Amino acid sequence: MSRNKSLKDFEEQIRKCVHCGACQAHCPAYLAEKREGSVARGKIALAAALLDGRDNLEKRLQQDISMCLMCGSCVTKCPNQVPTDEIVGAIRREITDEKGLSLVGRSVSAFIGNRPLLKAAVKSTAALSSLALKKVPESSGLRLRFPAPIMKNRTLPEIPAKNLYDLFPEFIQGNGEKPLIGFFAGCSIGFLYPQIGAAMIRILRKMGYSVFLPRGQQCCGIPALSAGNGRLVERLADKNRDCFAGQDLAHIITCCASCNGGIKEYYSTMEGNFTEFTGKVIDFTVFLKKEGLIEKLAGMEKWPNRKRVTYHDPCHMKKQGIIREPREILRALPNVEFVEMEGASECCGLGGTFSVYHYETSKKIGSRKIPGLMQSGAELLATGCPGCIMQLQDVINHSAVGVRAVHLLDLINEVSGW
Ligand code: SF4
Ligand code: SF4
Ligand code: SF4
Repeated sequence: MSRNKSLKDFEEQIRKCVHCGACQAHCPAYLAEKREGSVARGKIALAAALLDGRDNLEKRLQQDISMCLMCGSCVTKCPNQVPTDEIVGAIRREITDEKGLSLVGRSVSAFIGNRPLLKAAVKSTAALSSLALKKVPESSGLRLRFPAPIMKNRTLPEIPAKNLYDLFPEFIQGNGEKPLIGFFAGCSIGFLYPQIGAAMIRILRKMGYSVFLPRGQQCCGIPALSAGNGRLVERLADKNRDCFAGQDLAHIITCCASCNGGIKEYYSTMEGNFTEFTGKVIDFTVFLKKEGLIEKLAGMEKWPNRKRVTYHDPCHMKKQGIIREPREILRALPNVEFVEMEGASECCGLGGTFSVYHYETSKKIGSRKIPGLMQSGAELLATGCPGCIMQLQDVINHSAVGVRAVHLLDLINEVSGW
């Protein structure tokens, strides 16, 4: 059985905050709201006050703690690497444990635990098919992300009639003798964008790998983590680890930055024998580079009518330093003319369930990307996270830019012959 860390477990790191304010200029929530309670320093001060018994879990604190995308931008800029994103998660779990359901988690949990309510909510959103949503597991992050009544005016993709698990068996034979690769698709790719998962499987088979797509895999738990539902995160983490165990896997590949971050960054902080599992998980761009795909693509003749494409860094790739690999792939692709954009590394504003509870702030954060996007002259905005695609397309649709957000694998999939 796994166990999340408690707030007390972070005491030493909380005391390391020297109030220098280096986090301020990099916090998307602060830049949008300009409130001390939104920035890492303010949240660490609240955490210290909670530990010392100088504050309690009342409404003001809940509001400040909900103002965090758990993006980790502050952590990478902090001289003492204070893990504010993890500390915020621990406080949200305290709130849930002590107050029953927290401000952040109350609505979310109501939707998860009450199927008729969820169904009624879904019916009111034309973009979602209630028939298709029945196929999405109860514990899925998608259900946390689509409480329809509070998502008015939000662009949501259609849920396709067939999900990734309808399209492929659990074991998929490759075109060669290479070892078995596990595929953690996660719920966005599994149920919302199965074509991205299909592209991943096609590429792996073409490289000679066989693929294991376990039926028992669940959401990675990022939305539940963001909502403060610690018990659900533990349950999901256990199931995910166990469903990949017992197979001789070379790697477990992800093509969702949030899933990768959830497993590699978050499960590693939990008690519960995750080392073997997390050690095998690899981001698809890192894997493809390791496999020599970039050289193969770069050796191909450039297409005459290439698409002008720019790139958005998902927070969970940026935090792990996966910055060069996606750009190298884009530069090498024969069907793409890659252009860098101003603000490529700025957060899109999604932040797990943040965009559900603070939709206007979330849009404000995402809209900071628009000027750079316009200046780039790109027709496509590529990225490596389906969550970012959903958020960026929504932000774009609220602006005057006619750009489409796509996954890198959609672009790689267009090219054959390598
Ligand atoms: S950068 Fe780190 S040490 Fe400085 S105020 Fe922010 S959290 Fe505290
Ligand atoms: S995790 Fe992101 S949103 Fe939260 S305090 Fe740090 S920079 Fe700000
Ligand atoms: S985007 Fe990835 S991490 Fe997030 S809910 Fe979906 S599958 Fe889980």
